Amino acid sequence: MQLVEQISPHVWILPAEHKSDRPILAAIVGSRRTLLMDAGNSPAHARLFQEQLQARGVRLPDLLVLTHWHWDHSFGMSEWNLPAVAHQQTVDALRKLVGLDWSALESTLQALTRQGMASAETLQHMQEEYGADRNIQVVVPDLIFAHSLHFDLGDVTCEIRHVGGDHTSDSCFLYVKEDKVLFLGDSLGPSVYGGPRTYTANHFLRLLESIYEYDADLIVESHGQPLALTAFREDLNEWEQLARLVEQFGRDRERIVAGLQGLTQVHDLTQAVDWYMAGLEKKPRNL
Ligand SMILES: [Zn+2]
Repeated sequence: MQLVEQISPHVWILPAEHKSDRPILAAIVGSRRTLLMDAGNSPAHARLFQEQLQARGVRLPDLLVLTHWHWDHSFGMSEWNLPAVAHQQTVDALRKLVGLDWSALESTLQALTRQGMASAETLQHMQEEYGADRNIQVVVPDLIFAHSLHFDLGDVTCEIRHVGGDHTSDSCFLYVKEDKVLFLGDSLGPSVYGGPRTYTANHFLRLLESIYEYDADLIVESHGQPLALTAFREDLNEWEQLARLVEQFGRDRERIVAGLQGLTQVHDLTQAVDWYMAGLEKKPRNL
């Protein structure tokens, strides 16, 4: 079982769990309000965070903000029953999921996979998370923003900002200003639905640039763990180099792979090369 951790003066998180694809959930706790970042992948996931916050005497969330629409970030919403803030595209995507027959999980996900809104992994993870209890209620957020929105929670302020990227076009960053904590959601990941995974060098490099424009001390990817800025830079260095090689050599896979030989190669980037190659065949899309 994951246990809540306080990672900065105002921020508590429930760490990620990979078996059923539970992302990090965060509570940003001000003197007047608590903001919840992401709802969880199920009511059970939401309840786990609620119970642990309560046990630690942390003020429970008053409102909720989503980093993007994906099921693992949004399907816990029914359990929270809070005013929910989301980007317009997040709302549009969730609207498409309301009223689907979730008791017939396999066929519903098959149809969504054809529409580019789920994948084989989604079924596997949802079966793991929900077991036989398919009581899924999709909730559509009520407060909609277009570019960014600021929250004054009392002694601590946050900004949700739409950034897009390959993972999903509605991806947002959440920045906790006073604590210098930057949540990236899944924005740095490749696209995961609608065919093979894809990456686009331009999207990836633009996102990295935006991250480094913040004055963040701690950077948090939803399915990773909080990293200090220096550790994050180190971790991302090869990924950045790879994106630059793709920018330079385009479809010339051999030269890209040859370029990778010169890097330290902490991560195995071979798969990522394929994601970039697939990305080059995809129609370009704006951030
Ligand atoms: Zn996602």
